[in-house]
Amino acid sequence: MGKKAAAVTVCVVVAAAAAAGASVVARRQMKKSAKWSRAMGIVREFQDKCDSPIGKLRNLADAMTVEMHAGLASEGGSKLKMIISYVDNLPTGEEEGCFYALDLGGTNFRVLRVHLGGKDKDIIPTEFVEVPIPPCLMTRSSHELFDFIAEELAKFVATEDEKSHPFPGRQRELGFTFSFPVRQTSISSGTLIKWTKGFSIEDAVGEDVVGELNKAMERVGLDMRVAALVNDTIGTLAGGRYYNPNVVAAIILGTGTNAAYVERANAIPKWQGPLPRSGDMVINMEWGNFRSSHLPLTEYDDDLDVASLNPGEQIFEKMISGMYLGEILRRVMLKMAEEAEFFGDTVPEKLKNPFILRTPHMSTMHHDTSSDLKDVASKLRDILEINNTTLRMRKVIVELCDTIATRGARLSAAGIYGILKKLGREITREGEDQKSVIALDGGLFEHYKKFKQCMESTLKELIGEEASDTIDIIHSNDGSGIGAALLAASHSQYL
Ligand code: ADP
Ligand code: MG
Repeated sequence: MGKKAAAVTVCVVVAAAAAAGASVVARRQMKKSAKWSRAMGIVREFQDKCDSPIGKLRNLADAMTVEMHAGLASEGGSKLKMIISYVDNLPTGEEEGCFYALDLGGTNFRVLRVHLGGKDKDIIPTEFVEVPIPPCLMTRSSHELFDFIAEELAKFVATEDEKSHPFPGRQRELGFTFSFPVRQTSISSGTLIKWTKGFSIEDAVGEDVVGELNKAMERVGLDMRVAALVNDTIGTLAGGRYYNPNVVAAIILGTGTNAAYVERANAIPKWQGPLPRSGDMVINMEWGNFRSSHLPLTEYDDDLDVASLNPGEQIFEKMISGMYLGEILRRVMLKMAEEAEFFGDTVPEKLKNPFILRTPHMSTMHHDTSSDLKDVASKLRDILEINNTTLRMRKVIVELCDTIATRGARLSAAGIYGILKKLGREITREGEDQKSVIALDGGLFEHYKKFKQCMESTLKELIGEEASDTIDIIHSNDGSGIGAALLAASHSQYL
């Protein structure tokens, strides 16, 4: 072979190599676009499963009213416990004096000193401290949890000055807001049915939570009496009613979710006691445990449930509340990373950590209005150590936030509509112009603006134009603490 032939051969080899290189690039690109389509397939499938058209919401509201009837008919008759609260009188606005409240809800607990001043309703002077619950105490022993609470309570009481002492010579009285399912045995006692929201302290289940608190208060030498045991929904209902006599129900959207409402006592077949003078009885629905075949559940919800501390329980809560929304998002992102290499060749290590992505992070990403979605980029970087995301990827993350928050918000609206239906207040009736007011509270409702807006607009959509003037939603800020103090006042031993 001559020189020329050799040169030709080299050329051919070079051309072949170039062609091969181009096809590797093309193949990589093709692979990249195939991965993107795969990721989008995961997103679309998730969105389809989360869909909650108005017809489905109406079915859900109907299912909610059916379960409400069943839960009122007999103990254990429904997934909805419909717990009788023993609160048959809501505040009138006449309450006076200084009372304490203790609010144990999930993420933090708060101690309040509430100065009830009778007529002047515009503001109720309140002092409080908020203490994060050390996560380790959520799963250890009843003794340790209640000792911690009693110690903080004693520290707060010690800040009391002369004039804020309730009534010198009298025992201090406390409204205890304990927001876990409790079988109430009187206004000031009740046994814990089960833990929710990440708490799991075996030895407390079946015990009287007031008894546990009393023992701890004794151990720390604090002389105080629990006058009322309520949960946050009942506190919020009482606090709301103090300001607005048309409040008929209260909903909490915080770490968990729950609802309470005012029922006619003679519509509660399982109530064996005497008919209250008011004719009313407040019911704690424990609606977080609602479940229905109409719920738009996905594989991510099923997996989250199986991995949770309370599998098979609180299914409604796990689709709606602050403890879980961020975790659902993490699970979808993890699947996209594992099955479509959405974040690159390797699955980001941090993304494998359950509950690392909290709902407030999700809310920040969802509300990012910057043109380059810089808040999304920084959350992904800071929390998940995912760097170098493209704008297109970040847009997908925002879309996922929207899907998850929208589903939660629409389901909560359907639940509220179910309560209104049970009360016969979902439509305007001839000759009736009484308003129905729903008091809402909780960190999710308060801070997650898009969630709140979607919930409110969906409720309007369900109620329809005609009746929407007669139904109001109010934010009962701090209602639960003040409400508990109000109920302590109306159940004081000194009345
Ligand atoms: P709890 O329900 O524990 O009594 P809160 O009502 O204060 O307490 O609710 C706290 C929960 O609210 C948090 O666990 C979180 O899920 C949610 N939350 C708090 N801040 C935000 C936020 N900015 N955006 C979305 N959710 C939030
Ligand atoms: Mg709370």
